[in-house]
This record gives sequence, C-alpha cells and structure tokens, in this order.
Amino acid sequence: MERVIVAGGGLAGVRAVEALRGKGFEGALTLVSAERHKPYDRPPLSKAVLAGDSDDTTVDTDWAALDVELLLGDRATGLTLAAADEGGGVLATTAGELPFDGLVIATGAAPVTLPGDGRQHVVRTIDDSLALRGRLVEGARVVIVGAGWIGAEVATTAARKGCAVTVVEAAGTPLAHALGPEVGALTAPWYAEAGVALRTGVGVASVGDGHLLLADGGRIDADEVVVGVGVRPEVAWLAGSGLDVERGVVVDASLRAHAGGVARPDVVAVGDVAAWWSERYRRRLLVEHWDTALNAPEVAAATLLGQDAVYDAVPYFWSEQFGRMVQYAGFHAASERTVHRGDPAGRRWAVAWLTGDRLDAILTVDRPRDLVQARRLIAAGTPVDPDALADPDVPVRQAARS
Ligand code: FAD
Repeated sequence: MERVIVAGGGLAGVRAVEALRGKGFEGALTLVSAERHKPYDRPPLSKAVLAGDSDDTTVDTDWAALDVELLLGDRATGLTLAAADEGGGVLATTAGELPFDGLVIATGAAPVTLPGDGRQHVVRTIDDSLALRGRLVEGARVVIVGAGWIGAEVATTAARKGCAVTVVEAAGTPLAHALGPEVGALTAPWYAEAGVALRTGVGVASVGDGHLLLADGGRIDADEVVVGVGVRPEVAWLAGSGLDVERGVVVDASLRAHAGGVARPDVVAVGDVAAWWSERYRRRLLVEHWDTALNAPEVAAATLLGQDAVYDAVPYFWSEQFGRMVQYAGFHAASERTVHRGDPAGRRWAVAWLTGDRLDAILTVDRPRDLVQARRLIAAGTPVDPDALADPDVPVRQAARS
C-alpha cells in the first residue's frame, strides 16, 4: 500500500492519520476535508465555545511529523473502486481526481434542518458555534427545537447568558430517543430549574422569519431559532460507488467496507459515518459520539495495513447540561429493566439497565466514579447484584458477583 487517502478531517480523520503513521505506514498520505480548519474537537462547541470560554479547539498534533498532504476546504465528491482483486481506486474531489491504494472514509455527519425560509442555527462547526454565540444576548428570545443532547447544552448556555429560552420537543420527554421516555423524563425538571420553558409533544412544521410554525397550527415568535434534531451521516457522495451504504457506511467488526456484500480490505470507515458490526451486541451500531471517533481509527488503520483487529467497544458518551455532568456507557435497546441508584430528584444519581443479572448500561448524573466502575463491569460482562447496585452508598464495583 503506497498511497492512502483519508476523506474527512474531523476527529476520526486526524486519528486515522495518526494511527496509520503510528503503525509504521510510510507511504503517501492525503487528508481531504470540506472544512477550511484543521481538525478540531466538536464537544466544546455547544459548551465552552458557545459560552465564550474558548475560541479554538484544534486537535493538538504534529502535522509536520505526520507528513500528510492537507487538502482543506475540498470535498470528496465521488468514488470509483477498482476490481476487488486489484484493490484501490480513484477518489473524485473538488481538488481533482486522487488515486489511492487505501481509503479511510471519515466524513462524519451533518445536522438535519427543518423546512422553511427563516434563519435557523445548527451547531456542528466552529463557525456555527461562533455565529450563534454572538446572538445569545441578554433578553433574546431563543427557541431551540429538540430536547436532545445538543438542545439541552445550548439551552444551558443561552439561559446562563440571560436569554429567554424555550425548548420545543416533539416527543413526550427530553432525550426520549436516546434514553427512553422513563429515564428521559427525569431530566425534564432541570429545564424549569434553569428558567427554560420546555414544551414537549410539540412538532415543528417550519421555521419562518422571526417565528416557528407548529404542526398543530400554533406559532412561537423567536429572535433566534436553534435546531438540534439529529444528524445524518455524510454518505451522499458515495452514491454510485458500489459500496454498501445503509444509514451510514456498512462496515464489519474490523471496520472494513463492503461492496455488494463482499469485503473491501482497502476501504475502511470510522466515526459518525460508520455503521459497524458489533460482535459484542451482535448488531450494527452507528454511534455518533466522540469516544468512537477517538478510538475506532486505531482499528481501521490496522485493518488497512493488513493486521487483524476488531473494534468491540462499549459505547460511551457524556453531556454537560444544566450544571450537571451526564455520562452513559453501554447499550440498553434490549434490556429487561432499570434499577435506580439514588434519588433522581436529588443532585447525584444513576440509572442502570439490566438483563437478568447482567449490567447492560448505565446513565450517571454527577457520579463519574460510578460510570468508570460500571463501564468496566459492562465491558467484562460481570454479573451484578441488583440490590447492591441500587444502593448509592455501595461502590458499583462491589455490586459485582464473584
Ligand atoms: P465529524 O466531526 O463530523 O468530521 C467530519 C469532517 O468531514 C467534517 O469536517 C466535514 O466537514 C468533513 N466532510 C464531510 N463531508 C465531506 C466530504 N464529502 N469530503 C470531505 N470532507 C467532508 N460526543 C460526546 O461523546 N460527548 C459530547 O459532549 C459531544 N458533544 C458534541 C457537541 C457538538 C456541538 C457536536 C456537533 C458533537 C458533539 N459530540 C459529542 C459528538 C462528537 O463530536 C462526534 O461524534 C465527532 O465529532 C465525530 O467525529 P467524526 O470525525 O466522525 O465526524
């Protein structure tokens, strides 16, 4: 393999470059990314950057030592794969056609927007965050569509800056999609406590000039509308390439892409764009969180270089909202029941999802130690004593059944 291209310069893209060099790849390396900025971290965009505490989240790496050609402000627009037994292909980009022997797809995801001609903010790029920051002024009527992770974080900052904040959510509770309605509902009181009006069960039809039109015919006036209703993997540019694409790029447990169901060891995908086969959960996962973008590229680089590697992580993410550190580890889609640990009306609590005596997942609120210990038990599949787990005074690790 002499020439590798990384398409997409977010965290997953830069980590792929670092991992390839770290594993001894000495050939030509090119990173093509649509943004003009060098790769940067996104989690602070809805936190410290929006609050005005940080202006720059560029990933700290030694570009000179990595010896990589950086094509910033250029997009991948199409992909032509050579026959599987030859390998490689040509990436069409706005900078011209780039032949490759190996390709890392790391084009991430783009926010979903709403119909309508009115101005709507999203928070995906540093430019989005800085533009919104300038508009979060005292007294501004800010309406946030979506009470998910991003919506809650933006609401936190906007309320702190003295804006009049309303959050409109189509589901019956915040975070219903991510955590389910029962657990999502536990976060609803945080909005009122921060002076944020939360309106659930309200669909938005369109964004107009200075207002939102609701699905039930209602209207909410707004100086600023922020839309946080989810993202879509950036896969449109792969149309016609022959690669298997569902919601994201379909990859196996080694993060290898497939074309017509046949593995392409010369093409891997990582981060928010990749729908990877989890051996642990025996299903495909598309995890749009920082930890995956950070760690999966190590496996993808190994795969591309012909080494045996499998990405089998327990999903993990965090969110900082309404003065709380919220963390989640695991996967609970098929869990049988929840166990509460501490009083959700209090400051520090957790909810665990179990199947039998196996811990599937945990959500912690200002209990970082619980998260670390539970993550280990989840990863190891260690059986737990649910009664011990329910007692917030017993360390999570002591809930393990030997
Ligand atoms: P991206 O970061 O989306 O990077 C992809 C890059 O590829 C982009 O620069 C894009 O412009 C570029 N690109 C797209 N299409 C093309 C193309 N055709 N050609 C070339 N380049 C292209 N996760 C957590 O776990 N905790 C958090 O608290 C948290 N907070 C977040 C807050 C915000 C505001 C956002 C937006 C995300 C947050 N996340 C958080 C999620 C986390 O940041 C993402 O999972 C991570 O950024 C994904 O990295 P990525 O490299 O896969 O994709």
